[in-house]
Amino acid sequence: MDTPPEKKRRGFRRITSVVSLVSPYAGRFVAATIFLVFGSGIGLVYPKAVQWAVDRGLADGNLALLDQVAFALIGAFLLQAVFTWLRHYHMSWLGERAVTDLRRRVIGHLVRLPPEWFHERRTGELVGRIAGDVTILEGVVGTELSMALRNLVQLVGGVVLLAITDPWLTLAMLGVVPPLSIGMMLFGKRIRAMSKGLQDAAADASGRVQEVLGAITTVQAFRREDAESARYGEAVEHVFSRALRLARWRATFFATSSLGGFLAIGIVIWLGGRRVAAGELSGGGLTAFLLYTTIVAVALASLTSLWGSLQRAAGATERLQEILDTVPSIASPDDTAPFPAEPRRIAFEGARFAYPSRPDVEVLAGIDLQVEPGETIALVGPSGAGKTTLTALVPRFYDVTAGRVRVGGVDVRELDLEQLRACIAMVPQDPVLFSGSVAENIAYGRPGATQAQIEDAARKANAHAFVSAFPEGYGTLCGERGVQLSGGQRQRIAIARAILADPQILILDEATSSLDAESEALVQEALGTLMKGRTTLVIAHRLSTVREADRIVVLQDGRVVEVGKHTELLSHDGVYKRLVEHQLAA
Ligand code: ADP
Repeated sequence: MDTPPEKKRRGFRRITSVVSLVSPYAGRFVAATIFLVFGSGIGLVYPKAVQWAVDRGLADGNLALLDQVAFALIGAFLLQAVFTWLRHYHMSWLGERAVTDLRRRVIGHLVRLPPEWFHERRTGELVGRIAGDVTILEGVVGTELSMALRNLVQLVGGVVLLAITDPWLTLAMLGVVPPLSIGMMLFGKRIRAMSKGLQDAAADASGRVQEVLGAITTVQAFRREDAESARYGEAVEHVFSRALRLARWRATFFATSSLGGFLAIGIVIWLGGRRVAAGELSGGGLTAFLLYTTIVAVALASLTSLWGSLQRAAGATERLQEILDTVPSIASPDDTAPFPAEPRRIAFEGARFAYPSRPDVEVLAGIDLQVEPGETIALVGPSGAGKTTLTALVPRFYDVTAGRVRVGGVDVRELDLEQLRACIAMVPQDPVLFSGSVAENIAYGRPGATQAQIEDAARKANAHAFVSAFPEGYGTLCGERGVQLSGGQRQRIAIARAILADPQILILDEATSSLDAESEALVQEALGTLMKGRTTLVIAHRLSTVREADRIVVLQDGRVVEVGKHTELLSHDGVYKRLVEHQLAA
């Protein structure tokens, strides 16, 4: 449970976050509000005009006056139409703009959060939730907020004019209305809680789908299609029943709120009729009073139903704000150290690390390792030894829990993160190609590279031949809707990407899956070209790689257990020898 001050703070934050969305466009907001006040204000004029027409024009048979009133009213309504257009357009503009800004801000922030943050969440669920929340906000900021303001103007203006028309009757009406609106507000609160639960359930279901579709071959291979469909079916049925429950509450909400409005009108006709009969109110006065009551009742009914959506929007901003409030745990320091002249020298000094999600399991238990400029280090060890984790410390995907990692003699935590990562390139085990052309994929680490530079990198990566054999060459589309490249081809594209990025430090994760002999040779040759002159940390799975490495570092249970050349390490009976016999030789 939230403590009251915390709740207050959150409420305040919600308001400030909504205001901060619109504040850059304050001028337009003020203009739109003026249009709104005038537009809604004009709507309040006509009951008075009708009262005049009834009491003066009709009662006295003054048709000229009636004509004047009619023409004045037509003019007023034309003016109101213009204001309505202006209000609607500018409010929508603000809403769309605010939501666009928010989308950009959320994604801009999200892509800077460290990998750990994403490990704790399902990406599909996250994407679904952000899209859902932004859509809710879009509706609210774009139209509903402006409707609420318009109704507020009509409500307040209507009540003031009611009081002017007949204070006694107004008091009677007010005896009915405020209790009704308080009831509606409590109702709205309950609906909001249910609606949040529904959104969570829907996000959960769509998160699962994303996961299943992402691993469709695994699902099919294990013949889990029916099981997965059933599981999804269950999840959406659950969403359905929650949605129905919400619909029942909403229906009751709408029904009672309009009932309240019409009850108020009934009471006015009943009490007002008595006042006219007693000669305390004119016929025109009662007509005006009725019209104002209608305006007030409609405004109130709309406001109470809008209350629900405004609350929903508050929930949506809150979740988005949570993302925006997450401070990336890994970022450049305020005072960055000058970037070293020789960043190719890497040092791990007593580096210890445990994943934040499992703080009690020490994955790296004090690693000491000096890597000289241009050296190739092959990291070997049983699966789970900590090889991947060790390499992830260099570009600061994670920070050590104790000890340090130095690049060019400087602790990586003191360097500018952009500069640090700019001197590192990674070729993962199973490289990801983004949707887009082959050329765009190669230039991913160096946007703006020329076609000649891209082709040159592809040549060095042994990728040029197969790329030019495609009918559309470098323009061939990759990814979901493009060509399906083989594992070896994707690796060579990734190598070309790294060559073009021209880093001083290279992190390679060798593919464990075996390629056909020819592909294998082409990839190995490309890697040889790529590694020349760069410091390379390679998570090695192949005998050929470890043979050519300057040094082999054997990791086991987060510790360095052996260091040396292939032949040296083979000469005594240790972890490496066993690894070669069982794993690497395969
Ligand atoms: P290797 O690359 O040598 O196979 P890793 O560095 O991938 O080993 O993993 C080392 C250990 O850290 C393993 O026990 C693994 O389960 C654990 N681990 C890896 N990634 C995470 C993570 N994101 N959260 C928690 N534990 C992790």
